[in-house]
Amino acid sequence: CGIVGYTGVNNALPFLLNGLEKLEYRGYDSAGVYVHTDDNRDVLVKEKGRVKDLEKKVKEYDMQGKSGIAHTRWATHGQPSIENAHPHVSADGRYYLVHNGVIENYKQLKADYLSDVEFKSQTDTEVAVQLVGKFASQGLDTLAAFRKMINLLDDNSSYAFLLMDTKQPDLLYTAKTKSPLLIGISETGNVVASDAPAALDLTKDFIELRDGEIAVVSKNDVQLYDAEGNNYTRQPFHLDIDP
Ligand code: GLU
Repeated sequence: CGIVGYTGVNNALPFLLNGLEKLEYRGYDSAGVYVHTDDNRDVLVKEKGRVKDLEKKVKEYDMQGKSGIAHTRWATHGQPSIENAHPHVSADGRYYLVHNGVIENYKQLKADYLSDVEFKSQTDTEVAVQLVGKFASQGLDTLAAFRKMINLLDDNSSYAFLLMDTKQPDLLYTAKTKSPLLIGISETGNVVASDAPAALDLTKDFIELRDGEIAVVSKNDVQLYDAEGNNYTRQPFHLDIDP
């Protein structure tokens, strides 16, 4: 289970696939990638097995684009399958989301908020992206919808999330609690990853995200928010290690 995302000036796909390979040590049973293309398409490819199997499959697609998110899954809820692989998509197709961790109260959230939504997977994760889609359709902006969803997760849950909004495809929305996540900063774009090796080809400068915080990442900026929505920034630190 690992996640990686990129927004910048370069082609996202090779960086994302390379990042997934670096995260395979964390365990995997399937993998997936979403890219918003330069010609404004939303391309999602998922495959069972290794990152190499996903790499074979993406060759059939035209996925040139400067932002995207990717995931290796280690199933906790729902068998390993293409449908259950991440990224998951909101019912209206607006939001794409990857997740590491477990949403313990997903059944309750589904019953309370999403009884009218048709689910495409058996995962706990899909509840998170459907909630964001639902709250956005009720008028919240993406940051508020993401924050509202996170605030509904019970204390036993764990998560590292990466969310993309097809209406703002140059932004990565991210948050963590009890699952690792780093934000890498570079001149040519920014990266979000479960672990530093997935980012080291791009940068050794990182911003630490603390439990409960949300970050909105663009190619040249990182804005942080707490659970109440207060906005602030944080200086990056330099990681002195070899790739
Ligand atoms: N609980 C999620 C699932 O089963 C995420 C698993 C993971 O961390 O890879 O899909």
